[in-house]
Amino acid sequence: MTQIAVLGSMNMDLVAYAEKAPLLGETVTGRAFRTIPGGKGANQAIAAARAGAMVSMIGAVGHDAYGARMRETLEHSGVDTDSLRTIEGPSGTAHIVVDDEGGNAIVVIPGANGTVDHLAPGDEGVIACADMLLLQLEIPLAAVVAGAQAARRHGVRTVLTPSPARPLPSELLDHIDLLVPNEREAATLTDRADPRDAAAALLDRVPQVVVTLGAAGCLYLTRDAAPLVIAAPRVAAVDSTGAGDTFVGALAVALAEEKPIREALSWAAAAAAVSVQREGATESMPYRPEIEAQYT
Ligand code: ATP
Repeated sequence: MTQIAVLGSMNMDLVAYAEKAPLLGETVTGRAFRTIPGGKGANQAIAAARAGAMVSMIGAVGHDAYGARMRETLEHSGVDTDSLRTIEGPSGTAHIVVDDEGGNAIVVIPGANGTVDHLAPGDEGVIACADMLLLQLEIPLAAVVAGAQAARRHGVRTVLTPSPARPLPSELLDHIDLLVPNEREAATLTDRADPRDAAAALLDRVPQVVVTLGAAGCLYLTRDAAPLVIAAPRVAAVDSTGAGDTFVGALAVALAEEKPIREALSWAAAAAAVSVQREGATESMPYRPEIEAQYT
């Protein structure tokens, strides 16, 4: 089995569903409330574990009920949480209002994620044992940089999801093998609206780029071969939340298994296509047999 390490965030999503989101100063009565474990780090860890890898999650939760539930959620999907720290103080939370049109407004409080600003003793060993390290930008940049550098020292491949998009220093990108922005992130990072132009610009900084394009699939560029466009399977989508993280988790597993890039991208697109046909973020992430069924 391949080994994947994820260094990133865990949030409890506190979701209120209402006909419309309140304006500032306004109070509205909503119709439902749910607590849903999330955060891009946890999402990618769960996606990769369900896709068939041994996954270790490096990060932090708070000493509260949310932290305990997030740890449990990861373990339920088979993710190793030995490197997940429990710190004094609150877990990360995302306070979300979803309206009847599917629009949302979100306040994120980093909580424990904000304390992950360095590698703890033992983290480098976990990274060194992995085939691949998955990174995002929901924990302090210093830790993301330290993780990428540790991976490079041990010849471990790195995949960065640049979300939330922000300027990226060379000390990070110099150690990234594959960058996977969505269309909006690619545009923000490069000031180029066209995804192909944006991906081409990003190739100056990293050797491989995948831009995800929602229902239109994805675009892959590398420095030494022609671009690939991979269509997404045509499916009846009901909820695309977490599609990007499902795609990255499955892609990492496929690449760690040394699948050729075209096949790996199609396999990841199959995984994401299963997830968009079901409600939820992590709940909708497919297990390997479901990916295989969608892929063939
Ligand atoms: P999210 O923020 O919702 O997790 P994202 O914006 O990071 O997603 P997208 O580009 O929307 O990422 O989607 C990632 C991948 O998921 C796409 O490349 C595609 O393979 C798949 N996907 C998304 N939407 C659909 C859809 N409607 N039908 C089929 N596949 C989809």
